Amino acid sequence: MTASAPVCLICGAALKVALTRSQKGKVAVGLSCPVDGRHFRGFVNDRDYVTRTIQATQTLQNATKTANAPEGDQ
Ligand SMILES: [Zn+2]
Repeated sequence: MTASAPVCLICGAALKVALTRSQKGKVAVGLSCPVDGRHFRGFVNDRDYVTRTIQATQTLQNATKTANAPEGDQ
């Protein structure tokens, strides 16, 4: 399985993925552009999909941290 980060449709920057909640407490997947802050928010009702999205998001964040970490930073 290959996970790839979604990119902004306008500027092509890698979108930041985060889980958010609506005022009613519904879980939403938020995708925001790091350049201008525009964002999408998608609501999901399927619990399994939400769980897998959380895992994929964490994987992406870990990969980003690893990629950005300076060498010998421990
Ligand atoms: Zn953008």
